[in-house]
Amino acid sequence: MKLSTISQSLAALGRTPKQSLGQNFLHDQNVAQWIVDQLELQPGEPWVELGPGLGALTEYALSKSANGLVIEKDGQLAGFLRAQFPKLEIVHGDASEFDTRELFIRGPVKVVGNLPYYVSSQILIGWTDQPSPVGRLVFTLQKELAERLSGEPRTKAYGALTLLIGRRWHVHFARKLPPTVFTPEPRVDSAVVVLTPRDPGELPPCDGAAFRRLVKRGFAQRRKMLRKNIGDEVEDWGEFCRALGLQETVRAEELDLAQWVAITNLLGGKTGGAAQDVHGEIFDVVDETDRVVRQASRHEVHTQGLRHRAVHVFVFNDIGELFLQRRSRWKDVHPLMWDSSAAGHVEAGQTYDATAPREVAEELGVEAACTRIGERAACAETGWEFVHLYRAEHEGPFRLAPAEIDSGAFFTIEQIRRWIAARPADFAPGFLECFRIFDSSPQAHV
Ligand code: SAM
Repeated sequence: MKLSTISQSLAALGRTPKQSLGQNFLHDQNVAQWIVDQLELQPGEPWVELGPGLGALTEYALSKSANGLVIEKDGQLAGFLRAQFPKLEIVHGDASEFDTRELFIRGPVKVVGNLPYYVSSQILIGWTDQPSPVGRLVFTLQKELAERLSGEPRTKAYGALTLLIGRRWHVHFARKLPPTVFTPEPRVDSAVVVLTPRDPGELPPCDGAAFRRLVKRGFAQRRKMLRKNIGDEVEDWGEFCRALGLQETVRAEELDLAQWVAITNLLGGKTGGAAQDVHGEIFDVVDETDRVVRQASRHEVHTQGLRHRAVHVFVFNDIGELFLQRRSRWKDVHPLMWDSSAAGHVEAGQTYDATAPREVAEELGVEAACTRIGERAACAETGWEFVHLYRAEHEGPFRLAPAEIDSGAFFTIEQIRRWIAARPADFAPGFLECFRIFDSSPQAHV
């Protein structure tokens, strides 16, 4: 967008840029085009722009794909954009408060923004938080923040933020931008970063909450040795360091991402490697009336399509949202698909009722009473499982079993209905069956 167009548009609106909303408009069209190119948008691909302003990036993004949504906090600018781009979906709202769960229904979305600097950390954290519907992110940030995101160990820029974002995202510091490409010119330099999701298999699974807590403690006093910051969590510091191949005098900033994950897993117990011990499990084999006829190994049951038993548990919070888990990439079936809050097989000699709360405890790390709300006879869609469906109430937070669950979140029932209708392949088939049972029961409407 040309400098003269920006001035004319603002004059027509009878106003000047609002410093309180971080309004610095991009007038270098080559830079605008280059930023949008970093999104690698294909025709029809969904994208979102945060803080579109007068539309400097919007026009280029729209020329690549019409499937866009923009979120602008300034009501007058949102109105201006509506007039400019009548077919574009425009939300007048705060990008730091936007409910990103709404976007799963669109599939992985690409997100772009020359962010307002007063709120860019909150926006960055909100839009990269797990589970995330975002497939690629291109943000213009204050240069210092961009450096912190992409910092290397043993540098001043490297810190807790580098690791908390870096565990899930690859961060590429793409280029610096001088103040002169904006009007009015900001007082600081800017930089463009490109974030792409890490393949969940790149690092061993680890408990995200424990990782966050440890990293924050580790960097609380970054000049001190790590021992001072987290030594109280370890019984024998010397042995701990030897197990990880570290010097006892190591500082937080000397450890790379993989070492922080290793520390988390060493302190949190065994979590890495393949998902569950799937080999030793024995299930009851049942007949078409769900009567036990014999026992068989998990392998035998699944390869021969023998009828067996399973539970699914739907955990609700007090506003009636349902917690969905995204299965770990280490699962032997349906990796990375969305599933019931907790689910599992009934082991030989166990009952459905005893298995439901046990699965909640094992997978979500909490105790919750479970009430049976439905059942489904064994069929091809359930993988020849007789499924009993339970409901439970819990607000979280949960301690998700990292080898079993990639991430999870509460969703409204309406969000889930729309998501299933738009993208059924995102969900494990067993969950779809259970959701059908739930949705056709009076329980769905309490
Ligand atoms: N994208 C435009 C450009 O490059 O010229 C404008 C960029 S300007 C740095 C930031 C934009 O974000 C402004 O339009 C401002 O009104 C908007 N904004 C400020 N706070 C916001 C928030 N919390 N949510 C959404 N937009 C916001």
